[in-house]
Amino acid sequence: MLTTNPFDLAPAHLRDEDDDDKPKEECGVVGIFGDPDAASHAVLGLHALQHRGQEAAGVVSCDGFSFHSHRGLGHVSENFKSEEVMNRLAGPMAIGHNRYSTSGDKALRNVQPFYADLAFGGLGLCHNGNLTNAVTLRRQLVQKGCIFSSTSDTEVVLQLVARSDYLAVEDRLVDALRKVEGAYSLIAMTTNTMYGIRDPYGIRPLVLGHLDGAHILASESCALDIMGAEYVRDVEPGELVVIDRDGVRSVKPFVPVQSRFCIFEYIYFARPDSVVEGTSVYHVRKRIGEELARESAVPADVIVPVPDSGVPAALGFAAESGVPFEFGIIRNHYVGRTFIQPTQRTRDLGVKRKHNANRAFLEGKRVVLVDDSIVRGTTSKKIVQMVRQAGATEVHMRISSPPTTHPCFFGIDTPDRDNLLAAQHNLAEMEKLLGVDSLAFISIDGLYRAVGQVGRELGNPTFCDACFTGDYFLPLTDRNDTECTSQQLSLLREKLA
Ligand code: SF4
Repeated sequence: MLTTNPFDLAPAHLRDEDDDDKPKEECGVVGIFGDPDAASHAVLGLHALQHRGQEAAGVVSCDGFSFHSHRGLGHVSENFKSEEVMNRLAGPMAIGHNRYSTSGDKALRNVQPFYADLAFGGLGLCHNGNLTNAVTLRRQLVQKGCIFSSTSDTEVVLQLVARSDYLAVEDRLVDALRKVEGAYSLIAMTTNTMYGIRDPYGIRPLVLGHLDGAHILASESCALDIMGAEYVRDVEPGELVVIDRDGVRSVKPFVPVQSRFCIFEYIYFARPDSVVEGTSVYHVRKRIGEELARESAVPADVIVPVPDSGVPAALGFAAESGVPFEFGIIRNHYVGRTFIQPTQRTRDLGVKRKHNANRAFLEGKRVVLVDDSIVRGTTSKKIVQMVRQAGATEVHMRISSPPTTHPCFFGIDTPDRDNLLAAQHNLAEMEKLLGVDSLAFISIDGLYRAVGQVGRELGNPTFCDACFTGDYFLPLTDRNDTECTSQQLSLLREKLA
C-alpha cells in the first residue's frame, strides 16, 4: 500500500550536503521466513542496516495467502512507528529494504520491496546492487509490450521473471538473472518460499542466519545481531538459497567465476561490528591502519581520526606507530539529515555542523589525521582548516583507501571522474589543495594485505577494486546508451568517453 503521493520526491531537508563528500552506501536488504513476527524482525533488521540507505524504507509481508506492504520516504524509524502499520504487516514471512538510489530517481514508486501478481502468484523482490545492462534490457522489454511502473533497475528483474517461459519460480528467477549483468544481492518471496541470491562475482554481501526455527537473510550480520539471531554463513557468490517449510536448500545455477567482493565494504560501507565474508570489518579496518602506518608513518605527537568511520584505522595506525590516539575531532550525531539550513550564513558554516575541533588535544601538536577516503575533497579541506585553526603545528593526512580515481557502477554512488579529486590531481597538487603538510593513501597491495591476501599484483585479484584501479571486470553494456538517465549508468558514458 502506498502511503503518500507516489511521485513525491525526497524533501530537501532529508538530504545531507556534508555527506556529498563520501561515496554513498548502496542499499540494505533483509528477509525473515518462519517467524510469527516476521515484519517486526524485518524492521529491526532495517534499523541495523540504516547506514546502507537513508532515503526510503519498505517492508512486504506474506501470510501465506496475501501480501501486505508499507513503503515510505525517509528513515526506518519514521516509516514504521505506527501500530496500525505494523499490525497490517501480518504473516510469518517478510522482506525489507533500505534504499539509497543508485539507479532510478527518488520517487516513492521506486521504493522497494517491489511486489507484483504474476502468472504463478505473487512475488515480492528487493535488491542491493546495480545492473549494468538494465537500460538495454528495459528498452527490449518495453518494445515487447512491458509496462514499467518505476524507473528502478530492479523492476527489470521482476519483468524478466514475469515473462520467463519456465514454470517453476526458481527456474524463472535463474532464467531472469542469467540475462542481467552487474551486481546484485536479491531477496525474493512467494506465498510459501523465500529466495536469497548473490551475483556470480558476489560483489555485494548477503548473509544467512537462524532464529528459533526461523531463517533470516540480511546484507550484513549486524542485522542478525539486533534480532538476537545466529549468524550461519554468507550466501556464496553465484548461490541461490531456497528457503521453505522443508528448510534451506542451496543451488549453484551460474557459471563459476573468480569472486570479486567489493573491497570498499571493508573500508567504509559495512558497519564495523559486522562480519562479512567471514571476516570482522572492524579488524580489517584496524589492520588497514597498521599497514598504512608501516607504509607512511611520519614524526607526530597525536593520531586523530576523522569520526566516525576513520576511528578503527586510526587506532591501528596509532598502535603500529606508537603515537598516542586522541579524539581530536568530535562529531555531533544530532545533526545531518534532519538539520534544516535556513540561511546561506549557516550553510557556510559547513562541516562545523557535524565536526568540532577538540582544541586541548590539537594545540601545539603535530597531527596525523586519519580518514577512510577522499572523494571530492571538500570536507577534508574544511577539516584540515579546522584542525589548523585549533592550533596544530603540522597536519599530515593519511587515508585508509587507495586514491578513488574511478566511479563505481556496481551499486555505490560516486561522482564522475571530473569531480573525483584523485582523478584530477597528483599527490603534490592534492596536498596543496587540502592544505596539509603531507598526504598518503594506503597502497593497493597494502589494502590487500590488510584483508588477508598476499597483495593484488601477485595473483588474480580476488576483490572488486575498480574505483581504485579502473579494472571493471564486468561488461558495461549500457555505456553508450544515450537515453540512459540513471545516476550510475550515466557515469558509464562519462567514464568511457
Ligand atoms: S567499484 Fe569500488 S565501491 Fe564499487 S563495488 Fe567495486 S570496490 Fe566497491
